[in-house]
Amino acid sequence: MERKNAWDKYDKKGLKKVMDFAEGYRKFISDCKTERESVDEIIRMAEADGFKNLDAVIKKGTKLKAGDKVYANNMGKTLALYVIGKEPMENGMNIVGAHLDSPRLDLKQNPMYEDTDFALLDTHYYGGVKKYQWVTIPLALHGVVAKKDGSVVKIAIGEKPGDPVFTITDLLIHLSADQMTKTASKVIEGESLDVLIGSIPGPKQGKDKKDIKDRVKANILEIIKKEYKFEEEDFLSAEIEVVPAGPARDLGFDRSMLLGYGHDDRVCAYPSYKAMLEIGTPKKTACCLLVDKEEIGSVGATGMHSRFFENVTAEIMNLMGKYSDILLRRCLKNSCMLSSDVSAGYDPLFPSVMEKKNTAFLGRGLCINKYTGSRGKGGSNDANAEYMAKIRKIFDDADVYFQTAELGKVDQGGGGTIAYILAEYDMNVIDSGVAVLSMHAPCETISKVDLYEALLGYVAFLKNA
Ligand code: MN
Ligand code: MN
Repeated sequence: MERKNAWDKYDKKGLKKVMDFAEGYRKFISDCKTERESVDEIIRMAEADGFKNLDAVIKKGTKLKAGDKVYANNMGKTLALYVIGKEPMENGMNIVGAHLDSPRLDLKQNPMYEDTDFALLDTHYYGGVKKYQWVTIPLALHGVVAKKDGSVVKIAIGEKPGDPVFTITDLLIHLSADQMTKTASKVIEGESLDVLIGSIPGPKQGKDKKDIKDRVKANILEIIKKEYKFEEEDFLSAEIEVVPAGPARDLGFDRSMLLGYGHDDRVCAYPSYKAMLEIGTPKKTACCLLVDKEEIGSVGATGMHSRFFENVTAEIMNLMGKYSDILLRRCLKNSCMLSSDVSAGYDPLFPSVMEKKNTAFLGRGLCINKYTGSRGKGGSNDANAEYMAKIRKIFDDADVYFQTAELGKVDQGGGGTIAYILAEYDMNVIDSGVAVLSMHAPCETISKVDLYEALLGYVAFLKNA
């Protein structure tokens, strides 16, 4: 039952394809660290690849037909892309769905303060993080500042050579006698995740000759005003994410892996999108969902629980000239989905949490999780055996190397994905993605060959499910 190592599959020419695809992905995750940046970039690529904006199609009133490619953008954070198939929509779609948000630190609405001649930014962490991993590393600020005049300032500071970076400090080992006795969840507490952003005091008096207090903070605000054109009060309507600074890197002498921020879940989102370009005009309509807020429960207007996907699918059917409530319900019920999300990879440094027969290994291909969940499959989608059989056949027929896994040992913990949300439409859904080491850490590790098998698997699924 042991699964084959996917590197063995490739000759020199094949290896080049694997490495080239990974290089495109490496650049993508180096440039796109937030859900908004990912959406912007995928829209740019999609338009170059012939996708039309659904809003423009609706406005023009043109009908959609087989082979047409459209995308819908939800608040700049979630995307749904469709390649219209030859069969009627009520026969169902083949859907791949990944998420674009990753664990990080978000700035609070009122983030800035000065203490002992330092200026700092207060944060609230987003998603599941080991807080102690986020200190003493170079950090970048990415996000938007929405101003009252309706304009939106986009920022990404800490990525270009020559940009300053930011950091969160940790206690020196020499004085850590108390700290080192604490449990890992308390070593660095949430309220200690404050980002250091400056230390030069500004002038003692303002133009009105009044004394200025908090002169370091005042000086930073002057710099922000000059370089980024916003003021302290504008933080109230900003979404700024603190993420690890710098690009993703090739990992290992053999360059077989990638070390970078936010593989969860861009390592599935990227091949999900790229698969849409490899299917020509499919039998069934193909859909790629790239959603936000998975890491905090798929909530809100841009999370998978939102009506966005259902609304857009209704619009698509309407533009194909055949919409009714019952046809939409049939379309959703008859659809098949791969919930493309990452799996926990086996780490030889931490063998005790894994059960080796049912664990994903880096390099052994696309990973299928029949179920996720925790404490007795709680919260899991648990796909049907019949659907699992169908997916195995599709992958085997297309020579996709795959493996099956669950998330660690029973009773050790667990996790979830968006799978169960789409399954609520009475749709067949199964989790399938790339194995990751150090999941949710500032720098995660994946295997390039698993990324490539994911592409091949998603293509085979969209064509043949
Ligand atoms: Mn994920
Ligand atoms: Mn995650």
